[in-house]
Amino acid sequence: MADEILSQEDFDAELRQMTSPKMKRVALRYPATQCYRHANNPFWHVWIASYYMLNEEGPVFVVLMHGRDSTTPGSRVYHQDATLLLPCSCGKWQWPTERQLAERRAELARLQTQHAMKVRDLTREHGRSKA
Ligand SMILES: [Zn+2]
Repeated sequence: MADEILSQEDFDAELRQMTSPKMKRVALRYPATQCYRHANNPFWHVWIASYYMLNEEGPVFVVLMHGRDSTTPGSRVYHQDATLLLPCSCGKWQWPTERQLAERRAELARLQTQHAMKVRDLTREHGRSKA
């Protein structure tokens, strides 16, 4: 887990396991061995965590990992269109720092608490309107 996110050997092994020719084509065109920038938001790097399809007829999606320079470090964004990725290959994508991850965890915990309070209030309101 140093600078190298996914080695060529590991990527090749991943390719060999892909049964869908369509997915293999996308993976070869957009290999997970280099960083990319998203055409709609090119201000930070993303890394392809995985490729998947919902069915053989549909498109190939990628899961993108946000690194240290993102506003949401450590997040994985699903259902992304690989064709919107611009190869960057600068090699500067970095895993989020421990501090960034701790901040993200705290933020998520805050949101969960907020949500739980909202659900509690709605449940109480609902109980009152029934009475
Ligand atoms: Zn880059």
